Amino acid sequence: MKILVINAGSSSMKYQLIDMNDESVLAKGNCERIGIDGHFKHTTGTGKKYEIDVTMNNHTEAFVQIKDALLDKEHGVITDLGEVSAIGHRVVQGGALFSESKIVDDEVIAGIESLIPLAPLHNAAHLQGIRACLDVFGKDVPQVVVFDTAFHSTMPEKAYMYAVPYEFYEKYAVRRYGAHGTSHRYVSQRCAELMGKDIKDLKIITCHLGNGSSITAVDGGKVVDTSMGLTPLDGIMMGTRTGSLDPSVVTFIAEKENLSPSEMDTLLNKKSGFLGISGISSDDRDVSEAAEKGNKRAKLAIDMLEYQILKYVGSYNAVLGGMDALVFTAGIGENQYSHRASVCHKLEYMGVKIDDKLNEEYIHGNWGKISTPDSSVEIWVIPTNEELVIARDTKALVEASK
Ligand code: ADP
Repeated sequence: MKILVINAGSSSMKYQLIDMNDESVLAKGNCERIGIDGHFKHTTGTGKKYEIDVTMNNHTEAFVQIKDALLDKEHGVITDLGEVSAIGHRVVQGGALFSESKIVDDEVIAGIESLIPLAPLHNAAHLQGIRACLDVFGKDVPQVVVFDTAFHSTMPEKAYMYAVPYEFYEKYAVRRYGAHGTSHRYVSQRCAELMGKDIKDLKIITCHLGNGSSITAVDGGKVVDTSMGLTPLDGIMMGTRTGSLDPSVVTFIAEKENLSPSEMDTLLNKKSGFLGISGISSDDRDVSEAAEKGNKRAKLAIDMLEYQILKYVGSYNAVLGGMDALVFTAGIGENQYSHRASVCHKLEYMGVKIDDKLNEEYIHGNWGKISTPDSSVEIWVIPTNEELVIARDTKALVEASK
């Protein structure tokens, strides 16, 4: 069974074709700058590459590029579209409507549409992706949606409510939903497997640290709290996003600078975080390099990030009543070992012991356990694989529906 996984953004569409017999990636790529000028990249599992500048006016035109590349004589990986058994889509916001993955039907489409106000750019783009697949593949190829928020749907009320007047929860469903759920789900389950234990018996804190970052407390396989909120702006500071703030900072700056809500939104989402503090870059590699060369603001950005990770881990440790494992994943979590070291050394008071040598070795695709045998908590570096989770859910739902 071959499954096409689609991650449609407002101006991009990433894809992977996965052979579920051995879960290998047959091809993957990205349609970038849809509706702008257009660039298309495609790589096969055997390393053949194809890349062109091509205008893609909308997601259906982008999808035609994907289809043509998959079928191409030179760099294609299938000979007939019929080989694609199903399509799985990443959907950012499932709100309180979707606590698990679903086969796409009219009701599911209406549900995703109704959640557009909570994720305007993302959910609208996902729907374009779903409709583009319908245009190109027709109704006979089943489509499945996997929600980024679903894994967090087990959070208790006391964790997801904000202390604003209750009517705003009732009127607009304002609450914490979290994000990166598919990644937190994958790495927490993988961690339990690697530890040789049932996830039901484990308390795990998962740190997804990338351009966007979130930290989640997982008790017995269920999320009890997560750092991202109504939107992916909450929690720890990120590449260009603030993370948590005193809300008065927002009203104060907006008043002083005479900024509209949407201008303020841009400032908080695109101009803050690593970029805003360092003034250099949103990319951890650039900021770390500058910090090493003595740039004070770059060093401050790094110190702030490590401090905030530590605070979340400490507070979730309290929420869970102790932890069995701490997991690092995503671009920064899998590669920037100095942050892992800094955070874990500060946890030594509670018996956490990191193996510094292994920690420095486990980067760039090397991964595994980085705690010492006598550490009170197992520390793991586990590469995330959201596409694989989407493909597995798609396969399971499609098979169950037959
Ligand atoms: P996204 O949230 O866009 O998926 P990633 O998970 O790729 O982002 O994370 C991007 C961040 O990870 C950047 O700050 C970058 O510096 C860092 N990163 C990614 N790859 C590496 C690497 N090989 N070495 C060091 N840092 C990396």
